[in-house]
Amino acid sequence: MTGPAVKLLIATTNKKKLEELKSLLSDLPFEFSSLKDIPPISEVIEDGKTFRENAVKKAVETAKATGLLTLAEDSGLVVEALEGNPGVYSARFAGPEKDDVKNCLKVLRLMEKLPDNCRHASFISAVAVANPKELAGVAEGEVRGAIAREMKGSNGFGYDPIFIYGPYGKTFGEVSAELKHRVSHRAEAVKKAGETLKRLLNERPSHSR
Ligand code: IMP
Repeated sequence: MTGPAVKLLIATTNKKKLEELKSLLSDLPFEFSSLKDIPPISEVIEDGKTFRENAVKKAVETAKATGLLTLAEDSGLVVEALEGNPGVYSARFAGPEKDDVKNCLKVLRLMEKLPDNCRHASFISAVAVANPKELAGVAEGEVRGAIAREMKGSNGFGYDPIFIYGPYGKTFGEVSAELKHRVSHRAEAVKKAGETLKRLLNERPSHSR
């Protein structure tokens, strides 16, 4: 006999990010919910200096506030020639309205004069898992690429239309979700965090499995 599915709260209100995370976690036997499915809790202030700090804070505080096993992700674009920016400010790089197109255009404008060999960039993702008592694990993933000269493609979200993944010769905005998931920063971090989630499932008392 199998027990009821374990609930996993994904601490995000970003619809596209939620879709990607759910799809990457779909092999695991959880009942998923997001911050949109539960009564409102006070917003966690993401004031860390790194993706890792922000993901850990979000997971720990959200798990405490809700009493639920929680997965939180913090991610962004790191551009070498922009001294690591937009970095942890990726979502709000062009203003508080978190507009993806404005963010892409701002990066393109700042890099207008830079030659091809100065356009290196990475997407980085940190995923933290916490239960109401403690942090259970944290993992990171990275994918390296280059900043395009114009926006291309309408798949994905955020900076995908300006992020060229070399081996595909295309931006993430031009490839399917399946191709992005094969190599993305988020897929790598979620895969590692999956080990923590499996351990937590196995540690449950046998009568509730
Ligand atoms: P967060 O919700 O604070 O983690 O914001 C992450 C921001 O980083 C997003 O709003 C995007 O602008 C950017 N970002 C993170 N991951 C990706 C991705 O996979 N593709 C494109 N942009 C991303």
